[in-house]
Amino acid sequence: MVYIIGAGPGEPELITVKGKAILEKADIVIYAGSLVNKGILRWTKRGCEIYDSKGMNLEEVISVIEIGAREKKLVVRLHTGDPSIYGAVREQMDELLKRSIPFEVVPGVSSFCAAAAAMKEEYTLPGVSQTVILTRMEGRTGVPEKESIQSLALHRATMIVFLSIHMLENMVERLGSGYGKETPVAVVYKASWPEQKIIRGVLGDICEKVGSEKIERTALVVVGDFMGEDYEMSKLYDRSFSHGFRSGCP
Ligand code: SAH
Repeated sequence: MVYIIGAGPGEPELITVKGKAILEKADIVIYAGSLVNKGILRWTKRGCEIYDSKGMNLEEVISVIEIGAREKKLVVRLHTGDPSIYGAVREQMDELLKRSIPFEVVPGVSSFCAAAAAMKEEYTLPGVSQTVILTRMEGRTGVPEKESIQSLALHRATMIVFLSIHMLENMVERLGSGYGKETPVAVVYKASWPEQKIIRGVLGDICEKVGSEKIERTALVVVGDFMGEDYEMSKLYDRSFSHGFRSGCP
């Protein structure tokens, strides 16, 4: 059997219970060494074959999976965070489907969730934003024009920008087409890792604040008024509000 598993954001204990149980039995593990914390391999058994996909191309990854699957081995493809977010996982799943290799996907804790936990913030504050945009700036992988960061910024929703910390200045300029200069911004570096860093500022000063820190790769840029002081209380726990699980008090 083949399992595609989300390893979580870094801290080895942030893999799911199900993911860990499978990893412990794995005969072959292929992990994305550029992002996955090697510490997670502590859950593998002795004799488990380990491959770092960092230097491998799609064909090589699929070939390791295919040979393992044919030999009836338990193969794990470990992705950082959750595989569905910038995981390049669809092309792998399609190759497995083409070869009739059965597989299952086990979700993981995405880095944007780990970032909220690290900051002790809630992305969807009533009266502030009820929408979370996960996006990136175009790099070698393009972004459709209709999703340009300027146009997304117009919504002034909570926004989390992946894979783009090296373009922070340009990003901030483009975010300025929607968000005001005083909108809170945080850069979260290596959420849940021992080296974790959180740099908070506003759109107008975040570049300067980040400039003095050594932040490259593995960072998210998080934008929105949810990091401000004002919000409305939720209806969910409002004593005068009834819903399916609780009747309201007068
Ligand atoms: N599938 C992953 C994202 C892979 S893309 C997930 O669900 O999190 C890689 C990008 O994710 C990095 O460039 C960085 O922007 C972000 N990232 C991954 N892990 C991170 C972490 N622990 N802290 C901050 N950003 C992280």
